Amino acid sequence: MKRITDVHIHIQPWRQLKPAVQEAMRKGKEDHWEILISLMDDPRALLEVMDKSGVWRVGLVNYPSPDIMGFDDSTNTFAAKYAQTNPERLLPYGGVHARFTRDPQGDVDRLIDLGIRLLKVHPRSKYGNPLELDDVAIDFPDLQLIMAHGGRPLYMEEAFFILRRHGQVRLDVSGIPPSKLLEYFPRLTEIVDRVLWGTDWPSPGVKDLRQNIDQFLTLPLTNEQQRAILETNALALFPAES
Ligand SMILES: [Zn+2]
Repeated sequence: MKRITDVHIHIQPWRQLKPAVQEAMRKGKEDHWEILISLMDDPRALLEVMDKSGVWRVGLVNYPSPDIMGFDDSTNTFAAKYAQTNPERLLPYGGVHARFTRDPQGDVDRLIDLGIRLLKVHPRSKYGNPLELDDVAIDFPDLQLIMAHGGRPLYMEEAFFILRRHGQVRLDVSGIPPSKLLEYFPRLTEIVDRVLWGTDWPSPGVKDLRQNIDQFLTLPLTNEQQRAILETNALALFPAES
């Protein structure tokens, strides 16, 4: 497959991380921390990793979190600028922090002008129940919603209910170990046209973009279902430029 999109990787201005957060993120990655930092600085280094992994496009997850992570609003311009190196293969995501913004509508408009392709909302776990999306999907029927991580590990049933109920909601499987995907979502094939491939790399436990793809390919899915999840569903949501 030549057109795999990983809709969820973390390429963020890590130099802004608060020291305690940075310490936690470094744990277990000490050996290749410098390499990871260099990826955050240099899009060409990321494109090389993507080439080696057989990944065509990636979604660059970014969101302001000045109080917890240390990312301020410049995370949005970081993503937009980073993606300019190769707009076909790098999809910039950004965010507007509900509590810190003074002009939510204007801020969202500015992100669109900047070229941001997706807005990430990053709730705390207690607000992470996918049922919260029910109201949003009803009130904004034209809004395309992607549910990251599918409610794992607490809310898979709720996530599946929302997916079945609302056709504009998609599932991004990042953060779910690929070998467990069908355990968490045994009826995945019923919504297969709205499942998006994602890894959450380089978060803890996600070592390698390719390793996750290879594990996913061993699941008992048809070629057509694999292709939908890895390639065509993301192309429908984020059409290629050319
Ligand atoms: Zn993530």
